[in-house]
Amino acid sequence: MAYTYDPKNIFAKILTGEIPNKTVLETEHSLAFRDIYPQAPVHVLVIPKGAYVCYDHFAQEASDAEILDFNRVIGEVCRMEGLEAGGYRVISNAGRDGVQEVPHLHVHILAGRPLGRMLA
Ligand code: IMP
Repeated sequence: MAYTYDPKNIFAKILTGEIPNKTVLETEHSLAFRDIYPQAPVHVLVIPKGAYVCYDHFAQEASDAEILDFNRVIGEVCRMEGLEAGGYRVISNAGRDGVQEVPHLHVHILAGRPLGRMLA
């Protein structure tokens, strides 16, 4: 599949600094920042700095260093936010059926309240 990345999407603008963000952690390949409309007491988004639309795009085109860094940042944010004890949820919405609003790969880290069962 050919992936079309929109360089004007909101997260691309966050990466260029056009749109401000509340950064939690920044590394060479990834950025973690607070969601502007938090759905839980802790709601952090983690994005790769590269232009990837979704996980399958990332898996196909990203370097091992980018993939390693992205996953490490997700875990590191959980640790920095002190989420080990209470637990947390990491999710990524993709495409139409996943109801992805921003077409730049991101995961949501949600925590700080009981999140309920989520299988639908
Ligand atoms: P999606 O539905 O998985 O694509 O989620 C996109 C998320 O981006 C939503 O939770 C929005 O609240 C969040 N969001 C949109 N614009 C901004 C922003 O400028 N800063 C931080 N979060 C944003």
